[in-house]
Amino acid sequence: MIELIKKSNHIVIMTGAGVSSESGVPIFRGKENAWRGYQPEYLSNIDTFYENPSLIWTWYQWRRDLISQVKPNQGHYAIAKLEAFCIKNNKYFTLITQNVDGLHIRAGSKNVLELHGNIFIDKCVNCGYSTNDVKKYENELPICPKCKKVLKPGVISFGESLSPETLQKSFQASMKSNLFLFIGSSGVVYPAADLPLLAKRYGAYTIEINTEKSSLADYLDKVILGKSGEVLPELLSSII
Ligand code: NAD
Repeated sequence: MIELIKKSNHIVIMTGAGVSSESGVPIFRGKENAWRGYQPEYLSNIDTFYENPSLIWTWYQWRRDLISQVKPNQGHYAIAKLEAFCIKNNKYFTLITQNVDGLHIRAGSKNVLELHGNIFIDKCVNCGYSTNDVKKYENELPICPKCKKVLKPGVISFGESLSPETLQKSFQASMKSNLFLFIGSSGVVYPAADLPLLAKRYGAYTIEINTEKSSLADYLDKVILGKSGEVLPELLSSII
C-alpha cells in the first residue's frame, strides 16, 4: 500500500457509513438504524418529507443529537493524516464522502466533497437558501426566511438531485486518480457507486476496505476485509 501511495500523484478516498460506525453512528442498512420501526429507505425519501415533514424533522433531530455526541475514530484520523502526508509530498488528495455527519472535517480532513450533503445544514428545496445556523427542532417546523416554505435538513434524500458542482468535482477527481480507496460502503447508492468503477476505467488502482464485500468488490483490484478504524492506521502506520 505504501508503495502505491508513494508512486501515485492523485489519491482519492471515498467513504460510506461504515467509516463512522466505530464512532457509534449506525450504518444505513444496519438494524440499529431502524427508528421507531420505520425503514431508513422510507424516511430518506423526499416524498416522505413532503407528506410528513414533522416526522422527518423528528427523525433528523434524533440523528443530529446522536451525531453531536460522538467523536471521529481512528479511521477518520488516519484519512486526515494521509491527506497531510499528500500535501507535504505535493500529491493531490480528494476525499469524497457519502456521509453526512461531518466527522471527517472534525478529524481534520480538508479537501472533502460531501456528496450527500451535511446533516447540520438547513436548506430550502424551493428557493435554494441554506444555513448552518440550525435550531433544535421542537415540534415547530423551520421556515425559509426568503420564500416561507418549510426548510429541510441539508441531506440529499432519495428522489432529490445531488449538487451538480460536487458531483462534477467527484467525477473529475475519480477520473484523474491513480489510487482509489473505497471504504465502508455497500456500493448500492448511485451515482456514488459509479465512482470507483469510473476511477478503475481511467486507470486507477482500486482498493476496497469493508467489513463485508460490497456489490462492487468483484470489479475492483483488491479487497481488504476489516474495520476501517483498525485497517487504516495499520496500513498507513509508516507514513502517518
Ligand atoms: P451502508 O450502510 O449501505 O453500508 C455500509 C457498509 O460499511 C456495510 O456494507 C459494511 O460492510 C461496512 N462497514 C460496517 N462497519 C464498518 C467498519 N467499521 N469498517 C469498514 N466497513 C464497515 O452505507 P453506504 O454505502 O454509505 O450507503 C448508505 C447511505 O446512507 C449513504 O448515502 C450515506 O450518506 C447515508 N448514511 C450516512 C451516515 C453517516 O453520515 N454516518 C450513516 C448512515 C447512512
